[in-house]
Amino acid sequence: MAERVAALVVAGGRGLRAGSQIPKQYRGLAGTPVIRTTLALFTAHDEVDAVQPVIHANDADLFAQATAGLALLPPVPGGATRQGSVRAGLEALASLAPDIVLVHDAARPFASADLVSRAVAAARAAQAAVPALAVTDTIKQVDPAGRVTQTLDRSLLISVQTPQAFHYPLLWEAHRRAAEAGREDFTDDAALAEWAGIEVSVFEGEPRNVKLTTEEDFARAEAERVAGLVDIRTGSGFDVHAFGDGDHVMLGGVRIPHAGGVVGHSDADVALHALTDAVLGALADGDIGHHFPPSDPQWRGASSDRFLAFACERLRARGGSIAHLDLTIVCEAPRVGPHRDAMRARIAAIAGIGVDRVAVKATTSERLGFTGRREGLMAMATATIRLPWSGT
Ligand code: MG
Repeated sequence: MAERVAALVVAGGRGLRAGSQIPKQYRGLAGTPVIRTTLALFTAHDEVDAVQPVIHANDADLFAQATAGLALLPPVPGGATRQGSVRAGLEALASLAPDIVLVHDAARPFASADLVSRAVAAARAAQAAVPALAVTDTIKQVDPAGRVTQTLDRSLLISVQTPQAFHYPLLWEAHRRAAEAGREDFTDDAALAEWAGIEVSVFEGEPRNVKLTTEEDFARAEAERVAGLVDIRTGSGFDVHAFGDGDHVMLGGVRIPHAGGVVGHSDADVALHALTDAVLGALADGDIGHHFPPSDPQWRGASSDRFLAFACERLRARGGSIAHLDLTIVCEAPRVGPHRDAMRARIAAIAGIGVDRVAVKATTSERLGFTGRREGLMAMATATIRLPWSGT
């Protein structure tokens, strides 16, 4: 049987020290909340079967907004310490009983898919493994007065990151034992595992996998990220659905009362279908019918939110971001104007971008053609995206 791999992403801290009014993991970076980028790394990863977020109890609304459309296990509230938060996440995973758990900090959004693969491979080979980097600075020990007491041997030192990878049953048992022993002071899971007698090995970390902590970290990351997204692409999408029986239409993720319904396999939201194809087009990554075949019964009546969220996840998995989404809806009825702002907000939430990056326009076709005869709805969309330079 294939091993089941769960990712546990810890976002329980309320770290406001990065100079912001909202916890740092919910701040935007290149238009996307940090936590969304981090979680999407795991939800889009082929080797990860489930993603368990741990959040602060006060952040439920922030979390829901930041992660709309991502395929996650329901978030659980964390404890008073990082260790308590990890324990809460491990407990929530008990019914799923994964073989391997990857514990990762929400504030490390730049880990790559390769690093996640290395973590899984390392956990298969050992009971526990952590990503490590060689120390390049000379490290000195100082006394409380700031005087150097000794220079440490750099060749024996590593600096350690997340995701840290463990056999789930071992880590869960170690956390329970630590709690029973009254130990709540472990700052990472490897330290707790060492205390519990679990052998911890290392695998190659990544210099870019920094933990965003200070305001300077955010400013540098924002500048580097946007500067690196030099591959600007545009994609277009087009969709049509016929009117049929019913009392409402779904348009741009918004339910609009109408004299008829719309015929289609999913909820037949032409706006979200056109936007999905626009994003996939910009990625040169197939189309909606390729990823979600109409012949597959699981998409019958499905909310189209998931199609657009999927395309945006594919984009994020490639390190990109959405610069702009532009939508034109063509119909005589229903009237789009009264719902325009709700659609913009809904599309922005699904795509995980600011509402100022979403345009919704509407027109009639002057009673000409099938839209003019009120036989159906049509939508056209354009997506402008930024990708890292791929060298081709
Ligand atoms: Mg369609």
